Amino acid sequence: MEVKIRPGDALWYYSQLFRIPLNLIIDSNPNINPDALTAGQSIIIPGFTMQTIQVKQGDSLWKIAGARNISVDSLLLLNQDINPNQLTIGASVKVPKRIITKLVNGKRRYDYATLTRDIEALKAAYPFIKINHIGKSVLNKSIQEIRIGEGSKKVHFNGSFHANEWITTSVLMSYLNEYLLSLTNGTTIKGAKTLPFYQSIDLSIVPMVNPDGVDLVLNGPNESNREEVIGINEGSTDFTGWKANIRGVDLNNQYPANWEIEKERKKPKAPAPRDYPGDAPLTEPEAQAMAELAQKEKFQSVLAFHTQGKEFYWGYEGLEPPESKVLANEFARISGYEAIQYVDSHAGYKDWFIQEFRKPGFTMELGKGINPLPLSQFDEIYRDVLGIFLAALYM
Ligand SMILES: [Zn+2]
Repeated sequence: MEVKIRPGDALWYYSQLFRIPLNLIIDSNPNINPDALTAGQSIIIPGFTMQTIQVKQGDSLWKIAGARNISVDSLLLLNQDINPNQLTIGASVKVPKRIITKLVNGKRRYDYATLTRDIEALKAAYPFIKINHIGKSVLNKSIQEIRIGEGSKKVHFNGSFHANEWITTSVLMSYLNEYLLSLTNGTTIKGAKTLPFYQSIDLSIVPMVNPDGVDLVLNGPNESNREEVIGINEGSTDFTGWKANIRGVDLNNQYPANWEIEKERKKPKAPAPRDYPGDAPLTEPEAQAMAELAQKEKFQSVLAFHTQGKEFYWGYEGLEPPESKVLANEFARISGYEAIQYVDSHAGYKDWFIQEFRKPGFTMELGKGINPLPLSQFDEIYRDVLGIFLAALYM
């Protein structure tokens, strides 16, 4: 919600007026110097939208404020052009409205267009989040990263490395929305206040690593790539088993962590709906973008969300640091998922992350069933992993 600064106003005053933490207001207005406000400047109050109501017989700003449990001065601030002592019946009055429900509806077929719309809606309501474009998919879709928090400890989550595991994107976006609601409204998640996380953690979320693949599974092929992808799919137009990117390379088999072993033993020797590791490590733009992001940011820990199995993997070749085990025990305790240290697999993102940085990396396998998991599992998965999201921020 945009407001125009009045002479003598200060950001700390707006923080009290709207009961929004001051640092969220400051971070929502990066171009404003909080110590040198200029009257007439516009600033954004996060976590609010503006409503317009019509003045009725007998209305006053005091009455309107009282009925909504908001301060009169918030109405005066929003309606600087009207005379509060002379309201005319039928005139429009702007009223601030606190956002208390989720903008993201995760329980739907969550394709790239839905993701992009939701990211824009969240950015408009909560401008203290930052949106970065970390690379492009084969079909030129922007791979989007959302950053939230002003801390020094960088934690990274990602989803939909695998196309038919797109429910991980909607779970991550729903979690992000819940985190934002708790920050602006001062509410808790599982009993935990979240503002301390905002102050200590810089959270990076790439909700959809493989947008072309997700759109293929959900919407079918484009006219431009139809023949090619049906060819890779062995003539079938059923793409529910598709995990790869649009060129038939499995992005989670692309990383230089004993990639040669997977290359040798994986069945597909050419592009396929799943498991083909490519002609060399990191040939695919989506896998490259994720490697470059990790190289640049030096994350403290990473969680890659996949489906399915209600289990997670936390080691790689003995290279994981001691804190991996501490985190794994905590994740298992909270979620009831099974913690598995080693599995006979290489070339995955978390394998490479552990090998490269010797920091905790996890592959989380959400839910149970046959991929793509049905949306009827959404609530159960969300319940299971909400604690994992929080525990990852405690470290
Ligand atoms: Zn997967």
